Amino acid sequence: MPSRPEARPGVDRLTEPQREARDGRTAAHAYLLDAVASSDRPVPCVEDPSGGWTSDVPAQKAAAAEKCYTCPVLEQCAAYIEAWPEPCGVWAGQQMVLGNTRPGMKPASPRGLVAR
Ligand code: SF4
Repeated sequence: MPSRPEARPGVDRLTEPQREARDGRTAAHAYLLDAVASSDRPVPCVEDPSGGWTSDVPAQKAAAAEKCYTCPVLEQCAAYIEAWPEPCGVWAGQQMVLGNTRPGMKPASPRGLVAR
């Protein structure tokens, strides 16, 4: 008798629409990361050490949002965040606040994912 494949917690419980949404977000985020990686100019959230993009401090978040407007991939980032809103962090000059943030929650971000 064939052995049963191991369950993958958090993955096998997804419905088909949830799986499609996850895959769509992953592809869109990969596209954004490609744009960041291939940029010939510095991307502020990757190059700037201030950490404002994932900060909980309002003044730091505001400063990071201002820096986004010099970003060479601002257009791609804005398209991503419009299609796939993130719960927190600073993206494309916008401070995400969708109500499910908590102190210390660190969002996925171009900076965070590039650094991994
Ligand atoms: S969050 Fe988006 S727009 Fe802002 S610096 Fe990073 S990649 Fe650029």
